[in-house]
Amino acid sequence: MITALYPGSFDPLTHGHLDIVDRAARIFDRVVIAVLENPSKQPLFTTDERVRMIRESLGERPGVEVSTFDGLTIGFARQVGARVIVRGLRAVSDFESEFQMALMNRRLEPEVTTVFIPTSLRHLFLSSSLIKELAEFGGDISEFVPASVVEPLKQRLTSREHKHEHP
Ligand code: ADP
Repeated sequence: MITALYPGSFDPLTHGHLDIVDRAARIFDRVVIAVLENPSKQPLFTTDERVRMIRESLGERPGVEVSTFDGLTIGFARQVGARVIVRGLRAVSDFESEFQMALMNRRLEPEVTTVFIPTSLRHLFLSSSLIKELAEFGGDISEFVPASVVEPLKQRLTSREHKHEHP
């Protein structure tokens, strides 16, 4: 049985992420989506919120699980028994840092291999940060993120705006 770890911030989950999950799930027996608890990145959603939105969006996807982790990805890969780390690749600009990370992880744990899955054309320019910007300026995000992300995202950004207005 091959377990693949799919680590990331998922702040929030987009259709681009889900596409990678589905492609990975067709290749590997078990896919563990691992939400990074990284306070230094100042995420818009707490780890629990991100996990909840992912769980709701997944619905019935056998073999796909969600977890959280902090520290080194490779440590968590060992913990869940993953031999593969999955990462999505969009533009060439993703490549350099992803390649660097993959080589470092291999150095730390030669038994774990990073597998890059190319994004679908329709998700090429989709990123969590772009979605947050779009939502902040009132754009329609519903075609880019799962339904369970739409409302929380609108609400979070509206409450943030109010905070700006009345500090
Ligand atoms: P990180 O902070 O680890 O980059 P992200 O949530 O931004 O976390 O991304 C997690 C993974 O999902 C990364 O491998 C990233 O390349 C991939 N990813 C993000 N957006 C897309 C997309 N639109 N299409 C394909 N893969 C994507």
